[in-house]
Amino acid sequence: VVFDGFPRTVVQAQGLDALVVERRGVGITHIFHIVLDDEEIVTRLAGRRVCEDCGAIYHVQYQPPRVDGRCDRCGGVLRQRKDDQPEVIRHRLTVYRTETAPLVAYYRSRPGYVEVDGSGDAAAVTNRILPFLR
Ligand SMILES: [Zn+2]
Repeated sequence: VVFDGFPRTVVQAQGLDALVVERRGVGITHIFHIVLDDEEIVTRLAGRRVCEDCGAIYHVQYQPPRVDGRCDRCGGVLRQRKDDQPEVIRHRLTVYRTETAPLVAYYRSRPGYVEVDGSGDAAAVTNRILPFLR
C-alpha cells in the first residue's frame, strides 16, 4: 500500500502507525520524503492546467497542449485550479511548514526513511526511489 500526501500531521502519522501495526502486524517499511525547493514547487503547480471536460492534465511549460488553452484529447477548455494559483500555493507551503514539516522529525530516525531529490521529471524521481524498493 502506498500513501501519497498522507499522513499530513504527526497525529495522523501516529494513528496510521497504530492502525498498520494493529491490522497487519508490521510497521511502515519505507518513508520517501521528496524534497524540492519552493520556487520549483510554485512553477510546477502554477503552470498546471486541467481539462474541464475530460480531466487531462497539462503544464504550460513542461507539457503544453498543441493549441493554447485547449485539450489535445477532447478539445475542452483548460483551466487553472484555484488551488494552483501562486498566492494559494504560497499559503499551502506555509501550512505545510507548520503542520506537515514536523512529520520529518517524526519519521527521520526510522529505518526506511529516505530523502529523495524531487528535481527533474517523474521518471527521474521514480528512478531515485526504485532502488530502495528492491
Ligand atoms: Zn479534455
